[in-house]
Amino acid sequence: MDPISPLEQALHAARALVLADLMAGQVAEPDVVSLVEKSVAQRRWWVEQWPEGAEFVAGLVAQDVQDALLERYGRWPLCPVCGSGDPHALDVEPELGPDPHWVCAKAGVKVAAVGSLGGAGGGPQPS
Ligand SMILES: [Zn+2]
Repeated sequence: MDPISPLEQALHAARALVLADLMAGQVAEPDVVSLVEKSVAQRRWWVEQWPEGAEFVAGLVAQDVQDALLERYGRWPLCPVCGSGDPHALDVEPELGPDPHWVCAKAGVKVAAVGSLGGAGGGPQPS
């Protein structure tokens, strides 16, 4: 039996991390999940061309889903750090690198690792 390839592991992990963040923001609806699947399928092709990029996949899938949600639903994930001012989305940093984090560009703070939004007080805040 072949072990699961590192590429498949990276893709599986990326899918799980982004889904966890979507659930933390309570937006893991079926059509949103399909956006994740679509991104993972595209990134599978990408990482097959460039296996060294495997550890970048989670950050890329997060950004793909963020872009797709912006078109269909609006900003995601909303910044849980800034209590006032316009609601704004978090950014993924690094855009192309290992160990991606959600950051608030406005406050200049790391909010949570991708996949850990729920544990960092992300998601809806009581008003
Ligand atoms: Zn912010």
